[in-house]
Amino acid sequence: MPDGRATSLSIEAALALLPRHVREPARSTPVLQEKDVVVSGGGMAGVAAAVSAARCGADVLLIERYGFLGGMATAAFVDTIPPVAKGIGTEFESRIRELGAISTEKGFWASWDPEAIKRACFEIIEDAGVELLLHSYVAGVLVEGSTLTGVLVESKSGRAAVMGKLQYRRWGMGD
Ligand SMILES: Cc1cc2nc3c(=O)[nH]c(=O)nc-3n(C[C@H](O)[C@H](O)[C@H](O)COP(=O)(O)OP(=O)(O)OC[C@H]3O[C@@H](n4cnc5c(N)ncnc54)[C@H](O)[C@@H]3O)c2cc1C
Repeated sequence: MPDGRATSLSIEAALALLPRHVREPARSTPVLQEKDVVVSGGGMAGVAAAVSAARCGADVLLIERYGFLGGMATAAFVDTIPPVAKGIGTEFESRIRELGAISTEKGFWASWDPEAIKRACFEIIEDAGVELLLHSYVAGVLVEGSTLTGVLVESKSGRAAVMGKLQYRRWGMGD
């Protein structure tokens, strides 16, 4: 209370303050895919994780809510990239440099063209043999005991489950 005094509410009055809820009916959800590795989120980190897993011989599915890859680097033009020293980042840099889409010489902070990043992401994913599921929103997870066994995706085709032996969820906000 504004004057600092405690007050009491009945349960009914307290519940009335909460948002109204509805109870959804239970439903059966089709399993769309069963993979070794399922990566949720096609930002730069998700692309790198999916490519790394595929190069180790895993059957990999990468799920992304938008129709393109790259995450913040492409969707939000966060495209000022620090010098890349090693790993898959150097492969990205080479591909994008070949397209003439980096603003400075190697070894400096540079602006990478977002459209070139999108293209490089698709190419590196395709070359590694990663399967892509675009326009698909990861809306929930499936858990057995303490093991994450799959994800629930929502897309234009409806709701489906994607099962994976190893799940990797990768988006910057970590939510
Ligand atoms: C304001 C700001 C400025 C920044 N500036 C720079 C900079 O200049 N240089 C720099 O190097 N870094 C910068 N960063 C940091 C950089 O953006 C992050 O480190 C980087 O984007 C993290 O990459 P990521 O792949 O982990 O996540 P993200 O880039 O966030 O990618 C996450 C991906 O997951 C997808 N996704 C999210 N939720 C779902 C879901 N439910 N279902 C399916 N897909 C989903 C998204 O669409 C996205 O493609 C900045 C960050 C912020 C916030």
